[in-house]
Amino acid sequence: MLTTVGLIGDPVAHSISPAMHNAAFAAYGIPEEYVLWPTPAANLPERVTLLRSDKMRGANVTLPHKSAVMPLIDTVDHVAQAIGAVNTIVRTSGGGLHGLNTDAPGFIRALQSAEYQVQGGRAVLLGSGGAARAVAYALIQDGVRSLVIANRTIDHAVALLKNLECVVDTMPSTHIVGLDDQELSKQIEHADLLVNATSAGLDGRTLPLDPEHIHAGLLVVDLIYHQTPFLSAATDRGAVTQDGLEMLVQQGAIAFEAWTNHAAPTDIMRQAAKKALEKHS
Ligand code: NDP
Repeated sequence: MLTTVGLIGDPVAHSISPAMHNAAFAAYGIPEEYVLWPTPAANLPERVTLLRSDKMRGANVTLPHKSAVMPLIDTVDHVAQAIGAVNTIVRTSGGGLHGLNTDAPGFIRALQSAEYQVQGGRAVLLGSGGAARAVAYALIQDGVRSLVIANRTIDHAVALLKNLECVVDTMPSTHIVGLDDQELSKQIEHADLLVNATSAGLDGRTLPLDPEHIHAGLLVVDLIYHQTPFLSAATDRGAVTQDGLEMLVQQGAIAFEAWTNHAAPTDIMRQAAKKALEKHS
Protein backbone atom coordinates (compact mmCIF):
# COMPACT_ATOMS: atom_id res chain seq x y z
CA MET A 1 0.00 0.00 0.00
CA LEU A 2 1.45 3.35 -1.06
CA THR A 3 1.01 6.39 1.21
CA THR A 4 -0.05 9.15 -1.16
CA VAL A 5 -2.24 11.48 0.84
CA GLY A 6 -2.85 12.33 4.48
CA LEU A 7 -4.08 14.77 7.07
CA ILE A 8 -1.75 17.51 8.33
CA GLY A 9 -2.75 19.02 11.66
CA ASP A 10 -2.15 18.97 15.39
CA PRO A 11 -3.87 17.01 16.84
CA VAL A 12 -5.26 14.62 14.19
CA ALA A 13 -5.74 11.36 16.11
CA HIS A 14 -9.52 11.91 16.37
CA SER A 15 -9.99 12.24 12.60
CA ILE A 16 -12.37 10.02 10.64
CA SER A 17 -10.92 11.18 7.29
CA PRO A 18 -8.65 8.11 6.89
CA ALA A 19 -11.65 5.76 7.17
CA MET A 20 -13.64 7.85 4.70
CA HIS A 21 -10.90 8.24 2.06
CA ASN A 22 -9.51 4.72 2.37
CA ALA A 23 -13.02 3.38 1.71
CA ALA A 24 -13.14 5.56 -1.42
CA PHE A 25 -9.72 4.31 -2.62
CA ALA A 26 -10.83 0.71 -2.00
CA ALA A 27 -14.06 1.29 -3.95
CA TYR A 28 -11.93 2.14 -7.00
CA GLY A 29 -9.37 -0.62 -6.31
CA ILE A 30 -6.65 2.04 -5.92
CA PRO A 31 -3.84 0.51 -3.79
CA GLU A 32 -3.10 3.71 -1.91
CA GLU A 33 -3.53 4.83 1.65
CA TYR A 34 -4.64 8.03 3.42
CA VAL A 35 -2.76 8.44 6.71
CA LEU A 36 -2.51 10.83 9.64
CA TRP A 37 0.41 13.25 9.71
CA PRO A 38 0.45 14.86 13.19
CA THR A 39 2.46 18.02 12.55
CA PRO A 40 3.57 20.56 15.16
CA ALA A 41 3.90 24.10 13.73
CA ALA A 42 7.70 23.89 13.62
CA ASN A 43 7.52 20.88 11.26
CA LEU A 44 4.92 22.30 8.87
CA PRO A 45 7.35 23.55 6.14
CA GLU A 46 9.16 20.19 6.05
CA ARG A 47 5.87 18.26 5.88
CA VAL A 48 4.62 20.43 3.01
CA THR A 49 7.89 19.96 1.10
CA LEU A 50 7.42 16.17 1.28
CA LEU A 51 4.16 16.58 -0.68
CA ARG A 52 6.19 17.64 -3.73
CA SER A 53 7.40 14.06 -4.26
CA ASP A 54 5.94 12.50 -7.42
CA LYS A 55 4.51 9.67 -5.30
CA MET A 56 2.15 12.09 -3.55
CA ARG A 57 -1.39 13.17 -4.47
CA GLY A 58 -1.67 15.88 -1.80
CA ALA A 59 -3.12 16.37 1.67
CA ASN A 60 -5.90 17.66 3.83
CA VAL A 61 -5.00 20.41 6.29
CA THR A 62 -6.75 20.99 9.59
CA LEU A 63 -6.31 23.10 12.73
CA PRO A 64 -4.11 24.91 13.48
CA HIS A 65 -2.45 25.07 10.03
CA LYS A 66 -5.24 26.07 7.60
CA SER A 67 -3.90 29.63 7.23
CA ALA A 68 -0.23 29.00 8.01
CA VAL A 69 0.05 26.58 5.09
CA MET A 70 -0.92 29.19 2.50
CA PRO A 71 2.50 30.84 2.01
CA LEU A 72 4.15 27.40 1.79
CA ILE A 73 2.31 26.32 -1.37
CA ASP A 74 2.42 27.64 -4.94
CA THR A 75 -1.16 28.60 -5.79
CA VAL A 76 -4.43 29.01 -3.89
CA ASP A 77 -7.90 29.03 -5.46
CA HIS A 78 -10.17 32.06 -5.05
CA VAL A 79 -12.44 30.41 -2.43
CA ALA A 80 -9.53 29.53 -0.14
CA GLN A 81 -8.08 32.99 -0.72
CA ALA A 82 -11.37 34.66 0.22
CA ILE A 83 -11.83 32.54 3.34
CA GLY A 84 -8.16 32.76 4.27
CA ALA A 85 -7.92 29.01 4.84
CA VAL A 86 -6.71 26.03 2.80
CA ASN A 87 -8.01 22.61 3.86
CA THR A 88 -6.93 20.61 0.78
CA ILE A 89 -3.66 20.54 -1.16
CA VAL A 90 -3.39 18.94 -4.59
CA ARG A 91 0.00 18.05 -6.11
CA THR A 92 -0.23 19.01 -9.76
CA SER A 93 1.35 16.95 -12.55
CA GLY A 94 4.19 19.47 -12.76
CA GLY A 95 5.00 19.01 -9.07
CA GLY A 96 3.37 22.22 -7.89
CA LEU A 97 1.14 22.44 -4.81
CA HIS A 98 -2.34 23.96 -5.27
CA GLY A 99 -4.52 24.86 -2.29
CA LEU A 100 -8.31 24.65 -2.11
CA ASN A 101 -10.99 25.19 0.48
CA THR A 102 -13.57 22.42 0.21
CA ASP A 103 -15.48 23.39 3.40
CA ALA A 104 -17.50 26.10 1.62
CA PRO A 105 -18.62 24.01 -1.40
CA GLY A 106 -19.00 20.99 0.91
CA PHE A 107 -21.43 22.97 3.06
CA ILE A 108 -23.44 23.92 -0.04
CA ARG A 109 -23.59 20.28 -1.20
CA ALA A 110 -24.78 19.29 2.29
CA LEU A 111 -27.57 21.89 2.09
CA GLN A 112 -28.52 20.56 -1.34
CA SER A 113 -28.84 17.07 0.10
CA ALA A 114 -31.35 18.54 2.58
CA GLU A 115 -33.11 20.18 -0.39
CA TYR A 116 -32.50 23.68 0.96
CA GLN A 117 -32.44 26.44 -1.65
CA VAL A 118 -29.81 29.04 -0.66
CA GLN A 119 -30.80 31.55 -3.34
CA GLY A 120 -33.28 33.92 -1.70
CA GLY A 121 -32.99 32.19 1.68
CA ARG A 122 -32.95 33.85 5.09
CA ALA A 123 -30.15 32.48 7.24
CA VAL A 124 -29.07 32.86 10.83
CA LEU A 125 -25.51 31.74 11.50
CA LEU A 126 -24.27 31.12 15.04
CA GLY A 127 -20.51 31.57 15.44
CA SER A 128 -17.70 33.60 13.92
CA GLY A 129 -14.70 31.25 13.85
CA GLY A 130 -13.09 29.51 10.89
CA ALA A 131 -16.05 27.24 10.09
CA ALA A 132 -18.51 30.16 10.30
CA ARG A 133 -16.38 32.12 7.84
CA ALA A 134 -16.58 29.28 5.27
CA VAL A 135 -20.34 28.97 5.82
CA ALA A 136 -20.95 32.73 5.56
CA TYR A 137 -18.88 32.96 2.38
CA ALA A 138 -20.71 30.00 0.82
CA LEU A 139 -24.15 31.41 1.69
CA ILE A 140 -23.31 34.87 0.35
CA GLN A 141 -21.79 33.52 -2.89
CA ASP A 142 -24.85 31.35 -3.49
CA GLY A 143 -27.23 34.27 -3.13
CA VAL A 144 -28.72 34.17 0.36
CA ARG A 145 -31.13 37.08 0.75
CA SER A 146 -30.35 37.90 4.35
CA LEU A 147 -27.67 36.77 6.77
CA VAL A 148 -27.76 37.31 10.52
CA ILE A 149 -24.60 36.43 12.42
CA ALA A 150 -24.95 35.76 16.13
CA ASN A 151 -21.85 35.30 18.23
CA ARG A 152 -20.75 35.29 21.87
CA THR A 153 -18.04 37.88 21.06
CA ILE A 154 -19.56 40.60 18.89
CA ASP A 155 -16.16 41.91 17.73
CA HIS A 156 -15.42 38.56 16.07
CA ALA A 157 -18.67 38.73 14.08
CA VAL A 158 -17.93 42.32 13.04
CA ALA A 159 -14.46 41.30 11.82
CA LEU A 160 -15.87 38.31 9.93
CA LEU A 161 -18.38 40.43 8.02
CA LYS A 162 -15.84 43.17 7.36
CA ASN A 163 -13.41 40.66 5.84
CA LEU A 164 -16.13 39.13 3.67
CA GLU A 165 -17.21 42.55 2.39
CA CYS A 166 -13.72 42.87 0.88
CA VAL A 167 -13.86 39.58 -1.04
CA VAL A 168 -17.41 39.21 -2.38
CA ASP A 169 -19.06 41.23 -5.16
CA THR A 170 -22.49 41.64 -3.60
CA MET A 171 -23.44 41.51 0.06
CA PRO A 172 -26.93 40.45 1.16
CA SER A 173 -28.75 42.27 3.92
CA THR A 174 -26.68 41.53 7.05
CA HIS A 175 -27.12 41.95 10.77
CA ILE A 176 -25.01 41.14 13.83
CA VAL A 177 -26.44 40.21 17.18
CA GLY A 178 -25.22 38.72 20.49
CA LEU A 179 -25.99 35.05 21.16
CA ASP A 180 -27.91 36.00 24.30
CA ASP A 181 -29.62 39.07 22.81
CA GLN A 182 -33.45 39.10 22.93
CA GLU A 183 -33.44 40.30 19.33
CA LEU A 184 -32.05 36.96 18.13
CA SER A 185 -35.42 35.37 18.73
CA LYS A 186 -37.07 37.79 16.28
CA GLN A 187 -34.36 37.18 13.68
CA ILE A 188 -34.82 33.42 13.89
CA GLU A 189 -38.59 33.82 13.61
CA HIS A 190 -38.09 35.28 10.11
CA ALA A 191 -35.42 32.77 9.04
CA ASP A 192 -35.61 29.47 7.14
CA LEU A 193 -32.06 28.28 7.92
CA LEU A 194 -30.27 28.18 11.29
CA VAL A 195 -26.66 26.99 11.35
CA ASN A 196 -24.67 26.29 14.49
CA ALA A 197 -21.01 26.91 13.65
CA THR A 198 -19.99 27.43 17.29
CA SER A 199 -18.25 24.68 19.23
CA ALA A 200 -21.04 24.78 21.84
CA GLY A 201 -22.36 21.20 21.93
CA LEU A 202 -19.03 19.44 21.35
CA ASP A 203 -19.21 18.47 25.04
CA GLY A 204 -22.59 16.81 24.44
CA ARG A 205 -24.29 19.23 26.87
CA THR A 206 -23.98 22.93 25.98
CA LEU A 207 -26.62 24.62 23.81
CA PRO A 208 -25.57 27.67 21.73
CA LEU A 209 -28.96 29.31 22.36
CA ASP A 210 -32.32 28.80 23.99
CA PRO A 211 -34.12 26.22 21.79
CA GLU A 212 -37.40 28.05 22.41
CA HIS A 213 -36.38 30.28 19.49
CA ILE A 214 -36.57 27.36 17.06
CA HIS A 215 -39.68 26.89 14.91
CA ALA A 216 -40.94 24.17 12.59
CA GLY A 217 -40.21 26.15 9.41
CA LEU A 218 -36.44 25.93 9.91
CA LEU A 219 -33.72 23.71 8.54
CA VAL A 220 -31.35 23.51 11.52
CA VAL A 221 -27.77 22.46 10.72
CA ASP A 222 -25.16 21.78 13.40
CA LEU A 223 -21.61 21.53 12.05
CA ILE A 224 -20.69 19.19 14.92
CA TYR A 225 -20.47 15.67 13.45
CA HIS A 226 -22.90 13.95 15.78
CA GLN A 227 -26.41 14.46 17.18
CA THR A 228 -26.09 17.40 19.62
CA PRO A 229 -28.56 18.51 22.30
CA PHE A 230 -29.23 21.49 20.01
CA LEU A 231 -30.33 19.22 17.15
CA SER A 232 -32.40 17.05 19.50
CA ALA A 233 -34.18 20.17 20.78
CA ALA A 234 -34.72 21.35 17.18
CA THR A 235 -36.24 18.00 16.22
CA ASP A 236 -38.54 18.20 19.26
CA ARG A 237 -39.73 21.60 18.04
CA GLY A 238 -40.59 20.25 14.60
CA ALA A 239 -37.62 21.57 12.61
CA VAL A 240 -35.79 19.56 9.95
CA THR A 241 -32.22 18.90 11.10
CA GLN A 242 -28.83 17.90 9.69
CA ASP A 243 -25.63 17.23 11.65
CA GLY A 244 -22.10 18.08 10.46
CA LEU A 245 -21.31 14.63 9.12
CA GLU A 246 -22.85 15.45 5.76
CA MET A 247 -20.66 18.56 5.35
CA LEU A 248 -17.62 16.52 6.37
CA VAL A 249 -18.44 13.83 3.80
CA GLN A 250 -19.16 16.36 1.05
CA GLN A 251 -15.97 18.37 1.66
CA GLY A 252 -14.08 15.05 1.62
CA ALA A 253 -15.80 14.06 -1.63
CA ILE A 254 -14.66 17.29 -3.29
CA ALA A 255 -11.07 16.69 -2.07
CA PHE A 256 -11.15 13.07 -3.34
CA GLU A 257 -12.31 14.28 -6.74
CA ALA A 258 -9.53 16.89 -6.86
CA TRP A 259 -6.85 14.29 -6.02
CA THR A 260 -8.03 11.45 -8.26
CA ASN A 261 -10.27 12.93 -10.99
CA HIS A 262 -12.75 10.17 -10.11
CA ALA A 263 -16.34 10.83 -9.01
CA ALA A 264 -16.39 10.41 -5.23
CA PRO A 265 -18.30 7.31 -4.00
CA THR A 266 -20.20 9.48 -1.54
CA ASP A 267 -22.46 6.76 -0.12
CA ILE A 268 -19.47 4.54 0.63
CA MET A 269 -17.60 7.47 2.20
CA ARG A 270 -20.64 8.35 4.36
CA GLN A 271 -21.01 4.77 5.59
CA ALA A 272 -17.29 4.55 6.42
CA ALA A 273 -17.36 7.91 8.21
CA LYS A 274 -20.40 6.87 10.29
CA LYS A 275 -18.77 3.58 11.25
CA ALA A 276 -15.54 5.35 12.27
CA LEU A 277 -17.50 7.88 14.33
CA GLU A 278 -19.32 5.10 16.17
CA LYS A 279 -15.97 3.49 16.95
CA HIS A 280 -14.60 6.77 18.34
CA SER A 281 -17.62 7.48 20.57
P1 NDP B 1 -13.24 28.26 16.10
O1 NDP B 1 -12.50 27.99 17.36
O2 NDP B 1 -12.58 28.96 14.98
O3 NDP B 1 -14.60 29.09 16.46
C1 NDP B 1 -15.39 28.69 17.55
C2 NDP B 1 -16.69 29.48 17.57
O4 NDP B 1 -17.51 28.93 18.61
C3 NDP B 1 -16.52 30.96 17.90
O5 NDP B 1 -17.54 31.68 17.25
C4 NDP B 1 -16.74 30.98 19.42
O6 NDP B 1 -17.23 32.21 19.89
C5 NDP B 1 -17.84 29.96 19.55
N1 NDP B 1 -17.94 29.31 20.86
C6 NDP B 1 -17.03 28.50 21.45
N2 NDP B 1 -17.51 28.05 22.62
C7 NDP B 1 -18.74 28.60 22.79
C8 NDP B 1 -19.72 28.52 23.81
N3 NDP B 1 -19.54 27.78 24.90
N4 NDP B 1 -20.88 29.21 23.64
C9 NDP B 1 -21.08 29.94 22.53
N5 NDP B 1 -20.18 30.08 21.54
C10 NDP B 1 -19.02 29.40 21.67
O7 NDP B 1 -13.79 26.82 15.64
P2 NDP B 1 -14.23 26.37 14.17
O8 NDP B 1 -14.96 27.49 13.54
O9 NDP B 1 -13.08 25.77 13.48
O10 NDP B 1 -15.23 25.16 14.51
C11 NDP B 1 -16.53 25.39 15.04
C12 NDP B 1 -17.32 24.08 15.03
O11 NDP B 1 -17.52 23.63 13.69
C13 NDP B 1 -16.60 22.95 15.76
O12 NDP B 1 -17.56 22.24 16.49
C14 NDP B 1 -16.05 22.08 14.64
O13 NDP B 1 -15.95 20.72 15.01
C15 NDP B 1 -17.12 22.27 13.57
N6 NDP B 1 -16.63 22.06 12.19
C16 NDP B 1 -17.27 21.14 11.39
C17 NDP B 1 -16.90 20.95 10.07
C18 NDP B 1 -17.64 19.95 9.24
O14 NDP B 1 -17.15 19.57 8.17
N7 NDP B 1 -18.79 19.49 9.68
C19 NDP B 1 -15.78 21.71 9.48
C20 NDP B 1 -15.16 22.65 10.39
C21 NDP B 1 -15.59 22.80 11.69
P3 NDP B 1 -16.24 33.45 20.24
O15 NDP B 1 -15.98 34.13 18.93
O16 NDP B 1 -17.02 34.24 21.19
O17 NDP B 1 -14.99 32.85 20.83
